[in-house]
Parts: sequence; structure tokens; C-alpha cells
Amino acid sequence: MVLTMKRIWKEKLDNIKPYVPGKPIEEVERELGIEGVIKMASNENPFGPSPKVAAAIAEAAGSVNRYPDADCYYLRRALSTKLSVEGKNIIFGNGSDEIIILVLRAFIHPGDEVLIADPTFLMYNIASLVEGADVRAVPMKDMKYDLEAMADAITDRTKVIFIANPDNPVGTYVAKKEFDAFIERVPGNVIVMVDEAYYEFVDNDDYPETLGLIEREDKHVIITRTFSKAYGLAGLRVGYGIAKRDMIEVLNKVREPFNVNSVGQAAALAALEDTEYVERSLSLVRSEKKRFYALFDELGIKYVPSSTNFILVDTGGDSKDIFDHLLKRGIIVREMSVWGLNSFIRVTIALEEENDRFFAAFRAVINNKG
Ligand SMILES: *Cc1c(COP(=O)(O)O)cnc(C)c1O
Repeated sequence: MVLTMKRIWKEKLDNIKPYVPGKPIEEVERELGIEGVIKMASNENPFGPSPKVAAAIAEAAGSVNRYPDADCYYLRRALSTKLSVEGKNIIFGNGSDEIIILVLRAFIHPGDEVLIADPTFLMYNIASLVEGADVRAVPMKDMKYDLEAMADAITDRTKVIFIANPDNPVGTYVAKKEFDAFIERVPGNVIVMVDEAYYEFVDNDDYPETLGLIEREDKHVIITRTFSKAYGLAGLRVGYGIAKRDMIEVLNKVREPFNVNSVGQAAALAALEDTEYVERSLSLVRSEKKRFYALFDELGIKYVPSSTNFILVDTGGDSKDIFDHLLKRGIIVREMSVWGLNSFIRVTIALEEENDRFFAAFRAVINNKG
């Protein structure tokens, strides 16, 4: 008898396309036999780690024979002070990706519904399907969340709703007024996950401050943030969730005890204290973003004004083609066909000189095309 894998796995996995991350620099250099490749594909911080973080990592390296602190004691204490949130209201994860996974693992019964926007962060769909949820995607309106349509889509099977604010890959944010109205419409037995991975980059006055929501008795809100973007620690995988105490207790039951590694904990603690590094990163993004907009305006290229460190661009052509042309010039961007946005690329704002290289390459690609 021939052994077959057919139907041994969870059926819902048939609907999952594995997450395809932005290509690593080394891989592209190896494949194309070129050097000096720049990555503008994964919304990472283009500065190296802060020197304070590098020092903390060097020191922590001496203890990697030990298991990490399962409780993240020092990091928890520092973050709790910074956010004015009690330590008991925080859960740390191996990136905020892990918090998404833990929430679904803890709360989804097979057949429950998860509501997401379209387009949005791909992990929501993947992690929901793994837990046996039915995922419903509500289209955005003019590249913004249509929260009224999302509230209308809630049924008695809805368990979790994901709001990425700002959204990835779109870069737009939900304003306070719409957000507040939406929260009032969500029943108490539905969990609202507000993913604030780009929180630090937002400088819009009407961006909602969500931390106060965790104490509402009649709501179940969890907020996630990360050290991967503005803090420059993507490679160490540290993120966190903030929620009411009984939700955190439930999440801790499905959390692997040593989920945040010791080097990551030390680095995140140092990163929190290095406010100058974060400020420098934010100010780079702010000033460089204007130069991207100016180039796109000049070329007559449409883009979505962004509250983050990346920009979604409608190239007007075939995004795979444009991706390949940029890659040949040593620049990695994200092409958006996985999202069904076949003429779009997403580009992360990098260092000034890297952006200059992107501008020259993009200009050449667009002009050759026409
Ligand atoms: C980058 C990103 C994350 C987080 O990533 P981690 O590195 O796992 O913390 C979460 N949500 C969105 C929308 C992101 O773009």
C-alpha cells in the first residue's frame, strides 16, 4: 500500500499559501552575482541597530547557555512604566506575529469567523485558517478601512476582528472618530485586535489612542506593537500585546514559556531607553517620504499617502516586471500580486543614499517602459 499524506493534515491548510517574505540581501547578491544590494521590502529600520543595543547584545551573549527569563521581568517593568500600563496587562511574543498566533490559538473554535480587511497583513489570514476559522475579507474603500462595512459583516459566529492601524500594505490609518464608532458597534464577545506595528511612525492628530480601551468591561480589545520596525530589532523577534488581565492570563496558557529569547529581551530593553535612535529614525522617514512623493508626482505615478515607513505605489505597469527590473539594479522592493494588486509595489523608506539609488532606478524603469 502506498502511504499518502492526503487528508492527514487539517483541511483548512489547503487554502493557505505560505507566507513569502521579502528576499534577503544575501540571497539576491548570490543569485545575481552582484554586491551592494539594498532591501526596501520589509519595512525594516535602515539604520543599523543603535550602539546601545549593540552593547546590550554583546553583554547578553555571555549568558546564552541559560534559558531566558520566561517572564521578561526587566523589559516588562520598563515597558510598563513607559506606557503607564500594568505589567499584568502585557504579554511579550517572538515578534508581534506570535501574539496574533496566540490569540487565535486561545480563542478560535473551528468554524468561528475572523474578519479582516482586504488588503491587509497576510499573517491574519494564514494564522486564522490554521486554527480552523472561516476568514471573511471586507474590501477597503479608497485604500482605507471601511469600518461600517466591517461592523455590518459581524455575525453571531464572528470571534476576532483584525484592524491594522496603520494598515500594511496600504499605509493608511483609521481615524479616532471612525474607530470609536466602530468599537461601540462590536459586541463584547468579539475580540478586536488592533495591530499597531507602525504606531511610532504615525503623526496624524486624529490617530486613536487605544490603550484606555483595555479596561472597558464591555469590550475585548487587544493591542499589539513591536520592536521590529521603529526600534530596529526585526532580527531578534520581540513584540508585545496589551489587554485586560484575564485575557493575558488565557494567552499565557497557550504561550511557550521561553518564547522571547534572552538576547532579544536585553536588546529591547536597551532600545526602549534609546529614544534618540527612534527619533532619528522617525525624522528620516518623515523627510525622505516627501522626496518619494515628489518623484512620484513628477513621474505622474499614483501612490497612497502613508502614515508609516513604506509607500504603496501604483506603477501603472506589471508589478512583477518592475520588481525584476529593480532587482537587476540591486534594489529589492515588494511586489503586490500576492495581494491581487498586480500593478502595485510597496517600497520601504531607506537611508538617503539608498533612496537616491531607488529614485534613479525607478525613473529609468518607468521611462523605458513608456
Ligand atoms: C511588521 C508587521 C508586524 C510585526 O512583525 P513582528 O516582527 O512579528 O513584530 C505586525 N503587523 C504588521 C501589520 C506588520 O507590518
